[in-house]
Amino acid sequence: MSIENLNIEKDLISVLETVSDPEIPVLSVLALGVIREAIEVDGIVKIKLTPTYSGCPAMDVISDDLKAAFSEIGKKAEVELVLSPAWSTDWISEEGLQKMEEYGISRPLSESHDIDVLLHGKKLVKCPQCGSTNTHLVSQFGSTACKALFKCDDCHEPFDYFKCLK
Ligand SMILES: [Zn+2]
Repeated sequence: MSIENLNIEKDLISVLETVSDPEIPVLSVLALGVIREAIEVDGIVKIKLTPTYSGCPAMDVISDDLKAAFSEIGKKAEVELVLSPAWSTDWISEEGLQKMEEYGISRPLSESHDIDVLLHGKKLVKCPQCGSTNTHLVSQFGSTACKALFKCDDCHEPFDYFKCLK
């Protein structure tokens, strides 16, 4: 999904781009797809934020970071959490996915692929280091709850995979 379809005011984008996911610092909140709306009403920036999964601790940080970023340019921001529709890995932009891979996290596949990979041990997850899919699941939980830890059987590097299944 591209941000063109969302109600995000163009002159707010440059500020929103400075706020990143604390768990994946190379990924802005826009690239992550968690900003569903950002409009200025009577001098107040109103932001609708959909968490990557409910109870994700990073969302409190993101909310504070958004308010801080707008306060730097003298604007007050209000952040509202919107839980429905639920965030999906499909909302991560292609640019975001590429940055994630460069950062060393394997990009999310799809929920049905996740079932094959995480529950049935199929080799579909691509190693971000060497590109091999000869990889295996080490742990359902990687550095954070939304990632799983994998190891590449070709270059032997461990890496995080961004899960679709929650
Ligand atoms: Zn590898």
